[in-house]
Amino acid sequence: MLPTIVLVGRPNVGKSTLFNRLTRSRDALVADLPGLTRDRHYGRGLGASKPYLVIDTGGFEPTADSGILKEMAKQTLLAIDEADVIIFLVDARAGLTPQEFSIAQTLRKAQRPVLLAVNKTEGMQKAIVSADFHELGMGEPLSISSAHGEGVRDLVELALETIVDKEDESTAANHDAPRIAIVGRPNVGKSTLVNALLGEDRVIAFDQPGTTRDSIEIHLEKNGKDYTIIDTAGVRKRGKVFEAVEKFSVIKTMQAIEDANVAILVVDAQDGITEQDAHVAAYILETGRALVVAINKWDGLKDDERDWIKREIDRKLQFLDFAKFHYISALRKKGLNELFDSVDVAFKAAMVKLATPQITRVLGEAVIQHQPPISKGIRPKLRYAHQGGSNPPIVVVHGNHVDHIKDSYTRYLAGVFRKAFQLVGTPLRVQYHQGD
Ligand code: GDP
Ligand code: GDP
Repeated sequence: MLPTIVLVGRPNVGKSTLFNRLTRSRDALVADLPGLTRDRHYGRGLGASKPYLVIDTGGFEPTADSGILKEMAKQTLLAIDEADVIIFLVDARAGLTPQEFSIAQTLRKAQRPVLLAVNKTEGMQKAIVSADFHELGMGEPLSISSAHGEGVRDLVELALETIVDKEDESTAANHDAPRIAIVGRPNVGKSTLVNALLGEDRVIAFDQPGTTRDSIEIHLEKNGKDYTIIDTAGVRKRGKVFEAVEKFSVIKTMQAIEDANVAILVVDAQDGITEQDAHVAAYILETGRALVVAINKWDGLKDDERDWIKREIDRKLQFLDFAKFHYISALRKKGLNELFDSVDVAFKAAMVKLATPQITRVLGEAVIQHQPPISKGIRPKLRYAHQGGSNPPIVVVHGNHVDHIKDSYTRYLAGVFRKAFQLVGTPLRVQYHQGD
């Protein structure tokens, strides 16, 4: 499981500025796609020695007893509960406020490692500024500037060092079977789908105790092939009603996606594409996992409703154009075989092995068709390409002046590779290597 860093602090100290700095993707194929909207509170941390998740809790008023502030405090407490380490952000320019003392008190009770970060210290005498914050009793204050990036890397590395290694063996087991995460908002039909896959007669006693972050792993044999299902909803006991909000955990969803080879994104056709659907889709794209989309509850929809949801998909999930969409009914067990055919195709594409001469030939043809445009008087020269990774496949292109290549050209190359190697269902990354 990936370590989770939670940002806590009162409003305006700079949490979202820090969050954006930690999660902003420089991947040309992910950065700027039509329809892609990132979650403003949950993200994948980038640019550190290892991957991690970040939660920005918004504003926190632990003493609030009504309305929206109380709701925010509740969300913050839930996030703290999911934290491996907390970054408590304070504002060097505003100094200490009474709110900070009550936040500190709440954090002490949480029994999680806490790093105290003093933000907005650019151009200030760091030692002097941070000394004021010793009084909080939250350890040595660390000076940073989220806006300018000063001290941010060190802060994150320090945070990650406090976390004991959370590698578990479960991911190592059952190597060949594709690992499939079934994800989506509450009530879209994830449990129904899992139950349909397992068959009515198999009642599963998976009452594993654990935190809200734990998912359940289920071994599945379908059409003579093995799969491991990572079930984020949990196979519920019949007749038991859970509240939708409580059973859904974004962190759990993100962890499951990280842990899988292929994600099945389940969407409720009756609701259309919501913001939360799009956010989960964005996580999948950022992790680079293979993807199959299941538009569920297709039964009982009228023709005009079906047309409507298809238009919704075109408009809001354009950035998933590499994936197959299936219109299914988990309840009626319709479309499940086809869904799994696409899972197989996506898994195979994600794990593809491409030989260097093969990729280099396709690169050569792509360049003949369409040369890299001249940028600032220089035309980049692309020489050869090799595969740099799987799940997602990464194509590393070697050449000169590769820093002059535009994102639009990278997208062009990705499209050419995708077509040439018939990579359906997996994102594909193109990276560059300068020289030789
Ligand atoms: P949040 O409410 O805690 O998420 O705070 P924001 O990230 O929205 O930041 C609040 C204000 O502080 C914004 O105007 C930011 O531009 C500013 N800010 C954030 N980080 C820094 C910093 O490192 N230095 C300075 N001078 N301003 C910052
Ligand atoms: P989860 O929260 O994503 O696990 O969703 P559930 O599997 O608990 O399903 C939520 C509700 O949607 C339940 O009442 C299901 O019976 C219903 N449901 C699930 N799949 C379908 C489907 O294919 N068609 C219809 N009409 N209802 C469905």
